[in-house]
Amino acid sequence: MVLKLTWLGHASFKIEGKSTIYIDPWKISEKGKADIILITHSHYDHLSPTDISKIQTSKTIILTPSDGAKKLKGDVRKVNPGQTISIREVKVETVPAYNLNKPYHPKENNWVGYIIETEGTRIYHSGDADFIPEMEKIKVDIALLPIGGTYTMTAEEAVEAAKSINPQLAIPIHYGDIVGTESDAKLFEKISKVKVRVLKKGETFEWGKTLSSNWSELS
Ligand code: ZN
Ligand code: ZN
Repeated sequence: MVLKLTWLGHASFKIEGKSTIYIDPWKISEKGKADIILITHSHYDHLSPTDISKIQTSKTIILTPSDGAKKLKGDVRKVNPGQTISIREVKVETVPAYNLNKPYHPKENNWVGYIIETEGTRIYHSGDADFIPEMEKIKVDIALLPIGGTYTMTAEEAVEAAKSINPQLAIPIHYGDIVGTESDAKLFEKISKVKVRVLKKGETFEWGKTLSSNWSELS
């Protein structure tokens, strides 16, 4: 089955297969319905109750680190790094997300990135992180990596992270609002050792035909 992947701007991403999954919805103009919402951490540009209310239904399952849970209503499940959670046909793994050389995202907060496995594809959303040692063990098809700097990796640092993870495709996020610009995304694309696709805000692309057709569509 083909997955539809949409960058909703900044760190917000939508994955549509049998289930519709949103990650860190913020400043979205969506009227879609979420089956699953994944929150990486409680900063306002990642955990936005206003935006969540636009897509949440009585059946929506929300995963969040525990400090974010009190800001949310409905079926809210607290997570820590290192868990594997199955929700219908979707497998979600939580992985650590933190800064190495800046104070904004301390490791002890137990904030997370997510590996989402659905329709035979593994997608990694790193949350607000630097190139942390845990990334070296991550094996995925698609990596969504922050490149805006200041609070996360810069484009140059994200190139090193992407090289280590070695996904089939890397997509830059966490730019175009608050920090980072389109030129950071273009730089990431230019100097990356792995295939990169820079999306426009709101742009959807399809993934999950044969590998060769993914490559030909991308090249
Ligand atoms: Zn943050
Ligand atoms: Zn952020």
